[in-house]
Amino acid sequence: MRLVLVGPPGAGKGTQAERMAERLDVPHISTGDLFRANLGQETPLGVEAKKYMDAGELVPDEVTVGMVRERLAEPDAVKGFILDGFPRTAPQAEALTGILTDQGRELDAVVEFAVADEVVVQRLLGRGRSDDTEDVIRRRQQVYRDDTAPLLEFYADRIVSVDAVGSVEEITARVFDALGR
Ligand code: ADP
Repeated sequence: MRLVLVGPPGAGKGTQAERMAERLDVPHISTGDLFRANLGQETPLGVEAKKYMDAGELVPDEVTVGMVRERLAEPDAVKGFILDGFPRTAPQAEALTGILTDQGRELDAVVEFAVADEVVVQRLLGRGRSDDTEDVIRRRQQVYRDDTAPLLEFYADRIVSVDAVGSVEEITARVFDALGR
């Protein structure tokens, strides 16, 4: 399956993506994780991305799209993927359509993780990542509302919406239910 996960920061996409990837036997591709891996290895991409991540801003589209294009070209992504944290802007969504169209493929579904901002701030503060300070979290939420939430319209014909408040197991069950799996 080819799936995109959309939801505000802290909605639990990463946790669910891991579980879904295992069950569906496709790779979990998280742009946040790819950026953090680059950061850890101090690659030029990581050094560039860090400036934006620390401020809660989006890394520029060309950088992000180039990274995802390369990742999707790897052999393990041929059979499908769970994209977590990408696309996050309209240009990224259009680029993804282009990448898939070139391969003669398309997305099966876009899973929306629905959760209120107030619920997630507490979760994120407990996570202890360096970009999980309250100011940066608020900024990421604002960026989500401004740049990413409009994608729900763009993908209206393939959105599957899931209530993301509950236990990890409950939410996984809801996702597979909603996907008819
Ligand atoms: P969260 O969903 O909790 O914000 P992520 O790990 O998905 O965490 O993202 C962390 C940061 O990585 C973002 O705030 C942003 O700076 C950068 N990032 C991740 N994905 C993208 C993307 N698709 N486009 C631009 N920047 C991104």
